[in-house]
Amino acid sequence: MKFYEKYVSRSALLDYVEMACKQMAKRFVEPPKWFEHPPPEVEPPQLRKPDTKCFEDKKTHQSKYCKRCQQEADEEEQKLAEAEAKAREQKKDKSKNKNSLRERMKARAAEAKVQAAKKQKTST
Ligand SMILES: [Zn+2]
Repeated sequence: MKFYEKYVSRSALLDYVEMACKQMAKRFVEPPKWFEHPPPEVEPPQLRKPDTKCFEDKKTHQSKYCKRCQQEADEEEQKLAEAEAKAREQKKDKSKNKNSLRERMKARAAEAKVQAAKKQKTST
């Protein structure tokens, strides 16, 4: 029971917490006046390949890609062309859709007119 009173009871625990807080407060150091908070985090830069070609002939000063870079450039070009073609197709589809919608609306309007005329005929 004595052990419990000394180390586990509420007052003992509070004593322990107080001691810890005091020790931490003792070790606090005021930051020097020149200290500034670091600037906020920025997103990491996007790493990309250099725009210049990797090989330059020293005599003719003509630059060109090495084989691997040439392959990558070709692939990139192809992908770009594919994406463009896709976008163009989608645009076409959109205009087609618009036209079909317009025609459907016209057809519906004509049908409604015909039905309204029929109704008038039957009512009179
Ligand atoms: Zn290269």
